[in-house]
Amino acid sequence: MIQERTRRPCKLCTGQSEHLYVIQGIPYYSCPRCDFLQNFYWEDHEHGERAQVVTNEEARARLWQAGDPKQMREKGWEMLGLMTSPVAWTSRTVHTLLKRVPAYEEWTKRRAKTRLRRLLDFGCGHGVIVRELRKEGVEIIGVDPFSPTSHPSILRTSLPEAHIPAGTFDGIFTIEVMEHIPNVLETFVELRRILRPGGVLLVQTRRLEDPEYVRERDHWFYLQEPQTHVSIYSVTAMRRIAERAGFRSVAFRGVKLARFLK
Ligand SMILES: [Zn+2]
Repeated sequence: MIQERTRRPCKLCTGQSEHLYVIQGIPYYSCPRCDFLQNFYWEDHEHGERAQVVTNEEARARLWQAGDPKQMREKGWEMLGLMTSPVAWTSRTVHTLLKRVPAYEEWTKRRAKTRLRRLLDFGCGHGVIVRELRKEGVEIIGVDPFSPTSHPSILRTSLPEAHIPAGTFDGIFTIEVMEHIPNVLETFVELRRILRPGGVLLVQTRRLEDPEYVRERDHWFYLQEPQTHVSIYSVTAMRRIAERAGFRSVAFRGVKLARFLK
């Protein structure tokens, strides 16, 4: 049994994060110094218990299939379906949905103007984007230890275990993934390492600036999966990450998209 503590060292900075909410029995902590909202579910639970989390993929697929499509769309959960549902998506559906993904839209714009050839979809899930883009001749691979898909362009391993050489990618995108990552700083450092100098990392995850969070606080839908949504960012937290992981800059669009430049 884990004792609930009022303060714990922040995972991003040298600050002490303070106990803020308990959601489904799991405490969240907020760091007053870097404004990072975090829980310690992965640090506090044994491997066996954490392994259960993987089956949440199935739960989410069911949620997507059972949910009210209008409400799901408003909350952007169709992307969750795209990432996690085992449904065989048609190319047309995938492209229609992708138009609603800020990271993808941004990447498409940048691809036209800049040299973005070798790409990585970090946390690719079923790999629908990888498979669609490969059909268009894009040199892209996916990395996802929980991917249920067997495909030569999808590495079903953690990022460090993929042993990717430094400077491999022109661009990396990661869509609705970084909220699941417990070792945030290490992950950003590794993502930066495998980008070429001048490469771009697009991170799509809901941030605390989301008006829904401001209004709903601990009832915010993004916080209702505390076993898997362990890291919730803000502009301040992402600036701190950029600084500590050694990115040249970070810019923001809306409440979901951040663009890190190496
Ligand atoms: Zn902090």
